[in-house]
Order: sequence, then structure tokens, then C-alpha cells
Amino acid sequence: MAFVTIRKRTVVIVLSAVLALVTVFATAATVIASTRATGNITIVIDAGHGGADGGVTGITTGTKESDINLSIAKYLMKYLQDGGYNVVMTRSDSAAVCGGIKYNKREDMRVRRDIVKAAKPDLVISVHCNAYPVSSVKGAQAFFAGNSEGERYALTVQNYFNDVLNDKPRKAAVGDYYILNCSEYPSVLCECGFLSNSKEENLLITASYQEKVAYTIYSAVNSVFGEKT
Ligand SMILES: [Zn+2]
Repeated sequence: MAFVTIRKRTVVIVLSAVLALVTVFATAATVIASTRATGNITIVIDAGHGGADGGVTGITTGTKESDINLSIAKYLMKYLQDGGYNVVMTRSDSAAVCGGIKYNKREDMRVRRDIVKAAKPDLVISVHCNAYPVSSVKGAQAFFAGNSEGERYALTVQNYFNDVLNDKPRKAAVGDYYILNCSEYPSVLCECGFLSNSKEENLLITASYQEKVAYTIYSAVNSVFGEKT
């Protein structure tokens, strides 16, 4: 191996550049390490919120939406990986996606967008829980960007939500959300239920219901892609 003499200043510049790159890609690298290279369908699972942003909170238990989202996202990851899908998570723990000392929502969402774009997924599934001032409102609902390919996936997910989770059927709807609009890839935002409804909250905080929600989303996804994996 040849030894190359480099001026000290050049070394400092190169090292700074490497450090900057490592910092920028640290989050993405952690995420990619958790994927499994089977199948040819890639799904990004985006657990909503995290870090200082807990999302909405349960009306009786105060449980943070961010924790429920993460739990559902992890169950979904397992179902999809077991089904042979490649999975990329925007976050795999309770920390903010953007990292750093001070939480910045805009930066957090930008990092999520970068993870989606790097993954070039067949589908993005963002996992959230809802809240509404009227406590009787409940049920899981799927959202998509208007005039997007995400619509047909959202309609399928909604059918499964209505069949498995909802007492009263809800309709998939257009949602003007950053994660749905930030990339050209088909995207569905799942509001898995209302934490402002104590009955639904008490279901959503249990591992068994979180697993059920995840399996419902998985079944919907698999009904579209299943034959291709
Ligand atoms: Zn949310």
C-alpha cells in the first residue's frame, strides 16, 4: 500500500468533512442497519412524533401518542419483515428523529423526508393516534395526499380498519400532512384511533391491541403486494 503525504491543513479539512458526513448520516445508518434484505418490496414505517414531541396524550392515562406509535410501528416492522418485506424505520426508539440537543419540528420532519427519499420505498406508512374535542369520536382512519398514488393504499387500509377495528366504518380521507406530501412515493398516514376517547385509549395503550392494529395494517399492505414478495 502506498503511503501518501498530505499537508496538515488538508487533513484537517478532510477530517472535518468526514465528521460532518458522519453526523448527517448517523440517524439514517442506524435505521438502515435494522432492515433485512429479503424480498423486493421496501416499506418505510414512520412512527409519528418522538423526543420532546410526544404528540397527543391519552385523556385518562396521559399516555403519549409517540410511545404508542412506536410500539405499533415495531410490531408492523416485525410482521412485514417476517413477510419478506424490506423495512426502513424513520425511528426505532423514543428519541426524536432529528437527534441533537434542542428539538426542532421542521428539522425532524426534514430528516424523515430524507430517510424516505433515500429508501426509495414502494410505500410509506406513517403511524399516528388522533385526538378530538368531542370525546365520543373514535375509530381508525387512513389518510392520503390528494391526487396521489397513496389513495388506493389508503382505501385498502381503511377497509381493513373498518373490518377489524372500527365499530362504525370511517372513510379514508385526503390529509394535508407533511409526510404525505414530502416525497413522490405512495404514502398513507394511519390514525390508529382516538386517545381523546377513553375506551379507545384503553385499547391503544395495551400491547395486544397495538399488535392487532399492526397486523391489520400489515394485512392490508400484504393484500396489495403479497403476490409480488
Ligand atoms: Zn400524531
